[in-house]
Parts: sequence; structure tokens; C-alpha cells
Amino acid sequence: MSLDTFHAHLTIDLDALAHNYAALRHEARGAEVAPVVKADAYGLGAAQVASRLWAEGARRFFAARISEGEDLRAALGPDRPATIYVLDGAPSGSADRLEASDLTPVLNSLAQVSEWSSHARATKGGLRAAVQIDTGMNRLGLRLEETKALVQSFDGLRGLSIDLVISHLACASEPAHPANAAQLARFQEARALFPEARASLANSAGVFLGPDYLFDLVRPGISLYGGGPFGVSHPALRPVAHLTAPILQIREIRPGETIGYGATFTAERPTRVAIIAAGYADGVLRSFGKAGQVWLSGAHRKVLGRLSMDMTAIEISHDLVVAPGDPVELLGEHVALDDAASASGTIAYECLVRLAPRLQRTYLGAKA
Ligand SMILES: *Cc1c(COP(=O)(O)O)cnc(C)c1O
Repeated sequence: MSLDTFHAHLTIDLDALAHNYAALRHEARGAEVAPVVKADAYGLGAAQVASRLWAEGARRFFAARISEGEDLRAALGPDRPATIYVLDGAPSGSADRLEASDLTPVLNSLAQVSEWSSHARATKGGLRAAVQIDTGMNRLGLRLEETKALVQSFDGLRGLSIDLVISHLACASEPAHPANAAQLARFQEARALFPEARASLANSAGVFLGPDYLFDLVRPGISLYGGGPFGVSHPALRPVAHLTAPILQIREIRPGETIGYGATFTAERPTRVAIIAAGYADGVLRSFGKAGQVWLSGAHRKVLGRLSMDMTAIEISHDLVVAPGDPVELLGEHVALDDAASASGTIAYECLVRLAPRLQRTYLGAKA
């Protein structure tokens, strides 16, 4: 796809990503920082993100699906032999694929333990695995009682080399929530069952809950990509996703006239409007129209009326000197990801993963 001036553009700043990785390492006080690159690195491109983070020193990564792990292995290639954990684990029938791409499953149930352990016994043995213990999220993972029975059993883990024990916090983005301490206590009990393995509890928000939550390894996703750990921007983190869209047309609206589908905005006074080339087909959420603000020529500007598939109307002042083609910022230095997310009634994660294939993309600071 050739670059087109009248087109929304996503710039992914891998230098900012590297900055955030360093900030998280600082915050993690010696615990290893293992990037979570599931969902194509939250929509920003797992191959480019993981390549840059490898260059910054990251050696362990987390994917969600097996196919994501396979793609990441192919992108990193034989010269960058990262450990790639697959959070989905080892569903029935998946062992050959996991082994073929040298993926390490995060085993989430007794059935998954037995899938991977049988495969280990039938092949070379000594297969690496992580184990997830559910400590209160009730999503994936073994129960504590099941885990105790498993480690006491004669051969439940035969053929496996468990190198990591993880659990996941349900309420880390609310530091005062009592579930955090309760999960921490259960995790301390769980990890003691695997004295040889390293332990990992914290996602991005968990990294900021204090030293008790850090253990040996932390698993940040959103804060690598610029989202604050607690749903608001954090001063130590820089924006990675920069979304701009050019102005297509400028028009004057008379009092009483409306804008866009559903005629939901009616001008009360003479209003100057710029139509910009980004809509929900570019991944800007329709709900952004209600309270969203963009940035143009030194000021925030309001979105007017409903977003369309290909464009959005914004209010501009009468004296502003602008022309079609001028870029408007929808995400970046002046429109924080967390602010855009809350204006849209959602979270930073969803805003990132919705960024659409139609956007023209540029990577800054890419490492091959
Ligand atoms: C997605 C995920 C993470 C990363 O979470 P962030 O909140 O984006 O930092 C860590 N661990 C597990 C198990 C996850 O599913």
C-alpha cells in the first residue's frame, strides 16, 4: 500500500516502547520484565515490538494463542531464541504444534498437564512448562487444592520441567482493592509447591503495587504500549501509538443546521467544522464521538455529532488558519491513550486492539 496524504496514519514509536520497557525494569527492581505481546502486541505489531524488545534485552515473551506463538517464533527466527510462553497452554491435541515451534505452554488444568506430560514421555522428556494457579480470577488455572494433589502424586508431572509458576490479578488496577492481598497470600502458598521454579504474579498494574507483588518475573502488556497501570496516564510512560488524520474539508454551519448521521448535533451559533479522514473503519470507536477531543494547532477540539465509517467532524475556531491535508492528532502526545479510552467509555486496551488494518503504519526505531 503506497502512502497517501489524505489517509489516517498510525505511527508506532518503538523508541517510546524501549523507554517504557526501561521504566518498567526500573519499577520491577531486578525482577525480569517479560513482555506480553498477545493480540499482535495489542494491535501494534508483535514482530516489530518483540524485535525491538529483544534488542533491549527481553528474552521471554507471552502470547495468548498458539498461532501467535508460532508467528512470533517465525518473526524472531533462529538467531533470537526467546522463550515464548503460550497463555492458552496445551489444549488437547496441541502438543505437536507447541513442540514444533518450541513454545512453552502455561498449563492451566489437569487435562493440559496430562497432555503435555504424555507428550514429554512419548518424546524426549524434559519438556519445559509453566503452570498457572488460579488465585481468585476464576478464568484459567489450576486450583490450589488440585495443584497440591498434583505435586504429591507419583507421576503427574513426569517428563516435565516446570520453570515458572504464574497467577493473574483480577483487581490490580485498583490498588486498594482487598482482592489483591488475598490473591498475593494464595500465590505465596502456591509458589511454595514449586521450589525450583520462578514465580510471576504481576501484570502492568501489579508492577506498581509494591515490591511484594514483583517476585522473579513480571508480565506487563499495556504499560509497555503507553497505557497507565491504573487507567490514567503515568508520568514515567510515553505514548507509543500516534494516530493522526488529515482534514478533508472545512465548512461553515449555520445556526439550526445539523451534522452527520442521526442529526445528533445542532449548531446553536455559526460553527466552523473540519471533517477529518478517520472513522470507525480506522478503529476510532463510535463512542468516542460523545466526549472525544482531538488536537489541532495548539488546542483540543471537540468531536461534533456521530462518527461515520470514514470520517469525523470536529469544531474549529473561526480564526484558525488550516487547510485540507493538515494533520489532526487523535492519539499521541496531546491526546493521551487513557483519556481517549475514558472519553469512549472503555479502556486503553480496547482502543489499541481496535486500531484497524486500513491505517497506514510507520514504525520509528525499528530493529530487524
Ligand atoms: C494480558 C495478560 C497480562 C498483561 O496484562 P496488562 O494489564 O496488559 O499488563 C499479563 N498476564 C496475563 C495472564 C495476561 O492475560
